Amino acid sequence: MTTCKQCGRPLTVYDIGFFKKMVCRGTADCACIACTAAHFQISEAEAWAIIRRYQRLGCTLFPPEGAAKTNEGE
Ligand SMILES: [Zn+2]
Repeated sequence: MTTCKQCGRPLTVYDIGFFKKMVCRGTADCACIACTAAHFQISEAEAWAIIRRYQRLGCTLFPPEGAAKTNEGE
């Protein structure tokens, strides 16, 4: 299972998608939303807002909006 390179938390598709969107698309070394948000000095809520926006735009890094919401956040 892929885990956060900073805190070791198991990563969801949203963690990975957000990291790739914000940091680097080609990396296999991903961080969770909390750590990525902290890196950019934004809140997790802001991070989720960004994710939702890309999701609505049809970004392929995230599952389509309205898809089964497994593993989503807390
Ligand atoms: Zn983390």
